[in-house]
Parts: sequence; C-alpha cells; structure tokens
Amino acid sequence: MSRCEVIAVVNQKGGVGKTTTCRNTGAGLAAEGKRVLLVDDDPQGNLTDACGWEPEEISNTIADVYDAGTKDIEIKWEDIILQHEEGFDLIPANIELAGMEMQLNNTMNREHVLKEAIQELRQRYDYILIDFNSALGIFCLNGLSAADSVIIPVQTNYLPAKGLQLLLQTIAQVRKKLNPQLIIKGILFTLVDGRTNDAKKIAQTIYDTYGDNIPIFKARIPILVKIAEAPQAGESIFVFDRNGAGAKAYAAFTKELIDGGK
Ligand code: ADP
Ligand code: MG
Repeated sequence: MSRCEVIAVVNQKGGVGKTTTCRNTGAGLAAEGKRVLLVDDDPQGNLTDACGWEPEEISNTIADVYDAGTKDIEIKWEDIILQHEEGFDLIPANIELAGMEMQLNNTMNREHVLKEAIQELRQRYDYILIDFNSALGIFCLNGLSAADSVIIPVQTNYLPAKGLQLLLQTIAQVRKKLNPQLIIKGILFTLVDGRTNDAKKIAQTIYDTYGDNIPIFKARIPILVKIAEAPQAGESIFVFDRNGAGAKAYAAFTKELIDGGK
C-alpha cells in the first residue's frame, strides 16, 4: 500500500472553490479505489453540508478531535468518522469548532494538535484532504502543520496576485516555523470561464509569475451551474452530472493528483 498523503486545500480568499474541490476530489479519489478521508476544519461545516449531512444535527465533530487533542485523551474515531455512500470517510464540522479556538490558544503546542491527532489515521487512508474556511487562523495553521502538501485553488476571473503572494508567504513561514516538509502540490485553476479572454490572460500571468517555482495543474475546473448545484443534492459532480464537463474536469484533476503525486 502506498504511503498516506495529507493534503491541505488552502486559499485565504473565500469562494474560490476550496470546499467544492475537496468534495469532488474526495469522491474522485474514492472512485479510483483510494482510501480517502475528508476533514472539515471549518466551523461553517460547508464540506459536511456538501456531503449531504446537516452540520448542526451532528453531535460528534472535529471539535471533539481538537478537544481530545488538547486534553491528551484518546479519540474515539468510530464515534466521529462518517462513512459516505460514495466511498470516502468524513470528519464533519459545525459551529462547535468555533468554540475550540480559545481552548486551542491556551494549549501548549497549539498548532500541532490536529497533526498529532490524525497521525494514527495515516495507516488507514491513502489520502486525507483538509478543507478550511477562508482565514489563515489557528485551524488553518493546524491543518498546514498536519499536511504533507497543499493544493491552492485559484479563481481565474480576477488577478489574485496579491492574495496569492500573501498565501505563499504564509506557507513559507509555516515551513520555517511549523512544518519544514510541507510542499506545494500545485495551483488549481477553478471557476474558469473559458469564454472570456480575461480568464486566459490571468491564467497566463500566473504561469509567467509562478510557473517556474510552483507546479500548476493541467486540469482546469470550468465554471458550471451543475458544479454549484451538486452540493445542494449532497452529491458529488460524479453522481449529480456523471457525463458532464464538470465530472470530466474533476476526474482529470484526480488522475493528475494520483499520477503526479508519487
Ligand atoms: P470556498 O470553499 O473556497 O469558499 P466553494 O467551494 O464553497 O469555495 O465555492 C464557492 C461557491 O462557488 C459555492 O457556491 C460553489 O457551489 C460555487 N462553485 C464552486 N466551484 C464552482 C464551479 N466550478 N462552477 C460553478 N460554481 C462553483
Ligand atoms: Mg469553503
């Protein structure tokens, strides 16, 4: 069995397709026969929601993982991990996570709680994908400390130069202070509107500016109503619109992730 890879899907800008990418890539990897765990590390529980669960109705969540981690007690994974019918597992989140922030801040080693907690899960999965909200706060730092690599979804309908620069600086800081091993797996263009020249120009600018140093995935995720509608049905794009362009794009991305990864 191949080594487990923990991937953080990160961008401090909201609405760039982080949650959508986690959701669909998780399903895509599972369809390729990989053992996959998705981790919702966002108090809003968007990923949990997109997987078809009502976040506020769940009593055991990632908050319990952080809670046990800060208290150094054993985590009952079987009470927390949900199994999705599309073949992947999920550690769900809801607003209870927000309440953990203070507790975390008062903990020694506060940026490494998640890393230590999920260590024992590495043997159970091929891929662990972590989704965050759009803040480079304590939960994100825990995720970046726990991760082997990051995927950066970037929207191509505006020039993200400054935001991307800030994110890359943060990752550099994380490498220096928390996780020297962390690699950037690549930039993924999302919400790509192929009809506009702007999207092409911006993609080209990102290639010119970062392409020498950061891998950029060949697969691009188009902007499609079906991709936005799928989560409302609690389905991945592979179930919701099996033969559509969105499923093709996320399947191509999944393959690239698997092939390029090892
Ligand atoms: P983030 O997690 O970065 O905030 P989301 O994945 O939640 O971003 O996406 C933001 C919004 O855009 C959501 O409503 C989502 O359904 C929609 N969306 C994401 N990707 C696409 C896409 N490729 N085409 C159309 N809508 C998309
Ligand atoms: Mg999100």
